[in-house]
Amino acid sequence: MLDADIQYLKGVGPNRALKLHKLDIFTVSDLLNYFPVKYEDRRTVKNINEICEQGKYLLKVRIFEKPKYSRIKKNMSIIKAICKDDTGFITLTFFNQDFLKDKLIVGEYYYVFGNVKIAYGKLESTNPEIEFINKDWKAGKIMPVYGLTYGLSNNEITKLVKTALETYYDEIQNVLPDEIIKKYGLISKKAAVKALHFPSDNKKYTLAKRTIAFEKLLIMQLGLFTIKNNLTNELNEIVLRNTELSEKLLSSIPYKLTKAQLKVIEEIKEDLKSQKTMNRLVQGDVGSGKTVVAVYAMLMAVGSGYQSSMMAPTEILALQHYDTIKEYIKIAGLDVKAEILTGSTKPKEKQEILDKLKGGEIDIIVGTHALIEENVEFKNIGLVVTDEQHRFGVRQRARLSNKGKNPHILIMTATPIPRTLALMIYGDLDISLIDEMPPGRQKVITSIISEKEKTKAYDFIKSQVDSGRQAYIVAPLVDESENLDLNSAVEIYKELSTSHFSGYKLGLLHGKMSNSEKEEIINKFYRGKINVLISTTVVEVGVNVPNAVVMLILNAERFGLAQLHQLRGRVGRGKCQSYCILVNESKSKKSKDRMNILKRTDNGFIIAEEDLKIRGPGDFFGVRQHGLSKLEIQNIVNNVETVQEVQLLSKRILSENPYLKGSDYQNLKMEIMNLFKDETIVFN
Ligand code: ADP
Ligand code: MG
Repeated sequence: MLDADIQYLKGVGPNRALKLHKLDIFTVSDLLNYFPVKYEDRRTVKNINEICEQGKYLLKVRIFEKPKYSRIKKNMSIIKAICKDDTGFITLTFFNQDFLKDKLIVGEYYYVFGNVKIAYGKLESTNPEIEFINKDWKAGKIMPVYGLTYGLSNNEITKLVKTALETYYDEIQNVLPDEIIKKYGLISKKAAVKALHFPSDNKKYTLAKRTIAFEKLLIMQLGLFTIKNNLTNELNEIVLRNTELSEKLLSSIPYKLTKAQLKVIEEIKEDLKSQKTMNRLVQGDVGSGKTVVAVYAMLMAVGSGYQSSMMAPTEILALQHYDTIKEYIKIAGLDVKAEILTGSTKPKEKQEILDKLKGGEIDIIVGTHALIEENVEFKNIGLVVTDEQHRFGVRQRARLSNKGKNPHILIMTATPIPRTLALMIYGDLDISLIDEMPPGRQKVITSIISEKEKTKAYDFIKSQVDSGRQAYIVAPLVDESENLDLNSAVEIYKELSTSHFSGYKLGLLHGKMSNSEKEEIINKFYRGKINVLISTTVVEVGVNVPNAVVMLILNAERFGLAQLHQLRGRVGRGKCQSYCILVNESKSKKSKDRMNILKRTDNGFIIAEEDLKIRGPGDFFGVRQHGLSKLEIQNIVNNVETVQEVQLLSKRILSENPYLKGSDYQNLKMEIMNLFKDETIVFN
C-alpha cells in the first residue's frame, strides 16, 4: 500500500523513520513525492585535460602511486592519493575516511565524482565519491540530489526511493483523468514519479515535471475555486449597508483618498451590501494606504450593528493599528469602542475584554493570533480583517471565520503577486488592487554596490546614525553555514559590534529567536534604543520605524526582487530622505541586471512581473500556505504557461462538472479534499 508507514519499507526501520519524519515523510507515498531539487549528470566521463574551471565532474582514473596516510590530529586523518588518466593528474584528499586505506590500490581503475578545484594549474578534489570500477557504480546515469536530508545521506535517500519504486510502482495511480492526460500531452503518474527521481534523459524529465506540476496545480486550483463557489452559493444574513460612520471618517481625515483607494472601497461596499459573503484580498504596496480602507469597512460593520476584528501578524503591528484606529475614532468624533488583545495582555484584563466581546460592549477588536484562540467569543462578528495575511494562510482564516456565523472577510497584503499568478494563489478570493500611491511620497534612493564598497556603506550608516537616524542591515542567513559563502546575521552582528560599529548600539533579530525576544528587539529599535538593527528577512513584515532611513542588504543577489522590494519598504516612512543599498556580491551580469530593475522602479507589481520572468513562478507560491510544501512547488512549477493552462482547465471543469462526478474524477477529488482537509469543502 502506498500509504503504508514508511518505517516498514525495506531498509528503513525505526531510526531512519524518525529522520524521514523530519522531512515530512511518513508514508511510502510521501517518500515517492519527495522529489530531488537537482541532479548530477554522471553520464559523461571527463578527461582531466578538459577541465578548465571548478565544478563537479565524473572522472575515470588510476591510482598513480601508493596513497599517503597521515593522522594530523587526534580525531582527524588524511589520505592523499595522486591519480591519473590518459590526459593528466589529479590529487584526491580524503578526510577521516580510514576505510579507504586498503581500498585504494595502485594501478587499479576507479570512478571519481566530486567537486574539482584548480589551484595553481593543478587539479584537486576533496572528499569525492570514489568507487572501484567493476562494482555496481552509478556512473552513466543522472543522479538525484535531494534538498534536505536531515542526517540521512543523499545516497541513503536515493536507495530508499529506489526500493519504494521497485516495490510499489504498479500501485501508483493516476490522479488526473485519462482524458486530461491525453489532451495535454502528459504521461502517467507512475512514469512521471519514476522519471523525476531517476530521469533517463532530458525529454522524459521535462514531461515528468510538467505532469506533476500540472497535477499539483490542478488540485490546488480546483480546491480554491470550489471553496469560492461554496461561499458564493451560500446566502449570508449579515448585510452591512450603513456607511454613516465610515463617511464621517473620510470627511475628518486630513487627506483625500486616492482614486485607487476609492475604487477598492466601492468594491468592498458592493460585497458587504449584497447577500454574499465577502472574501476579498486587498493588494497594495507598502504605504499605499490599506489601513484606512480596512477601517472604512470595519466602520460599516459597526454602523450596521456588528462587531469587527483586525488581526495582525505581530504585536507591534497590532499595536500600531490599534493606535491608528483610536486616532481615527477620535478625530471623527465617533462613539465606537475599540480594544486590543495580544499574547501579552494581562490575564485579568484579558478576561474583561473577553467578557465585553461576548457581551457586545466592544465594537472593534484589534489583535494578534490571540484572536483565534478557542476562548474568544463574539456577540455578533460581522467582518474579519487580517493584515499581512501571508503569515496566516488558508487554514487560520477558516478558524477565525468559524467564530461567527459567517462573517465577511477582508485580507490585506503588501506582497504583490503578478496578475497571471494571483488567480492561482488566491483563487478562493476576489482581488482588489490599490495600485497607486498617495501623492507626495518620498522616493527611496536605491544604489547597488560591490562587496568591496561595503566599508563605505558602513561609514555612510554611521554618519546617518550620528545625525540621529537609524538603519537596518539585512543578511541572508541566521547562522554561519559551512557550505555557503554567505553573510549570516549572527556573524555580521559579532563582527560589526567589535569593528566598524564599536561604540554604537547594535541589535540582532532573526527567525530562530522566540516571539517575545523578537518583539523586545523590535520594540527597542522602535524606541531608538538600538541604532542599527542587524537582521534576517524577518524584518520584512510590517516593522514600521519612521526614523530608520538606511536599508543595507548583504548578498542582495540571493533575494528575490519582490523580497528586496519589501525590505526597501521598511525605510522611507518618515520625513527624512531614505536610502536602500544593495550589496551585490555576485559578479554575474544577470544579477546586476536584476537589481537594476529595483533602481528603475518602485512599483511592486512591475517588480513582481519582472521577478516572475526571471525566476519563474515557483517563488510566489511560497507566499501562501497551501498544504503543498514550498519546496515541492518551487521545484516543479517553472513556467507560467502551465499555470495559465491549468487555470483555464479548472474553470472549464467546474462549469461542466462542478461536483467532479464520475469515476475518472474520483482520485482528483480525493486529492483536493486531502489538500484542503481543514477547510470546509463540499462537492455536492
Ligand atoms: P499600508 O498600505 O502600507 O498599510 P498605511 O495604511 O499604513 O499603508 O498608510 C501609510 C500612510 O499613508 C499612513 O500614514 C496613512 O495615514 C497615509 N495615507 C493613507 N492614504 C493616504 C492618502 N490618500 N493621502 C495621503 N496619505 C495617506
Ligand atoms: Mg499596513
